Amino acid sequence: MISRFTPRARELALTIDLCDGKDERSYDDALFDLIAAEKIPATVFVTGLWARHHTTELRWLTQQPLLEIANHGSRHKPCTVNGRSAFGIAGTRSLAEAIAEIDDNANLLEGMTGSRPRFYRSGTAHFDDVCAEAVQLLGEVPMGFSVAGDGGAGFDQAGVERALATANPGAIVILHGHRPNRFAFEGLREALPTLRKRDISFVRLSEISDRFEVR
Ligand SMILES: [Zn+2]
Repeated sequence: MISRFTPRARELALTIDLCDGKDERSYDDALFDLIAAEKIPATVFVTGLWARHHTTELRWLTQQPLLEIANHGSRHKPCTVNGRSAFGIAGTRSLAEAIAEIDDNANLLEGMTGSRPRFYRSGTAHFDDVCAEAVQLLGEVPMGFSVAGDGGAGFDQAGVERALATANPGAIVILHGHRPNRFAFEGLREALPTLRKRDISFVRLSEISDRFEVR
């Protein structure tokens, strides 16, 4: 699983997860409007659950030149072959189920966006070893993260701001974009001046995939 990359300059990779989307309002307009207005490149991980209920929003995301769409699984399951839970969410129970979780969503997203995702982050970003290998055999890269920018959507505004403003080059940062009542937008907005002062630039995962640090 990849959680960091070797930076060439003062680069951060911003990733935004869209996890659960049965509620049509599971979309943080303010966050995505901010990253578009500030021209921040980012990689957006989308589940099948979210994509099916947000076709208009997914189309908009796909049209943004600085964003790329990645795979967050069909049903937001931890990537396991034995059903083990991670953070209270039960994982896939077999290799066949894990493959379906990965590939069904890759097929769905390819159909909806016109390109097949290259990066896969499972629900909770948990992978067992067999499952991580299966992701690679399916042609995708198993992605974790190194900075929980919003603490799994649990941080307040000051917490998000601090996590982002202090992130080090080479970090893969995660925010959540399906919780508009949380503080990803406010925290990012407040952290931007500090990040700019630190000469931080943002990159998409596809721009740095030859510099991933394998653990
Ligand atoms: Zn998620």
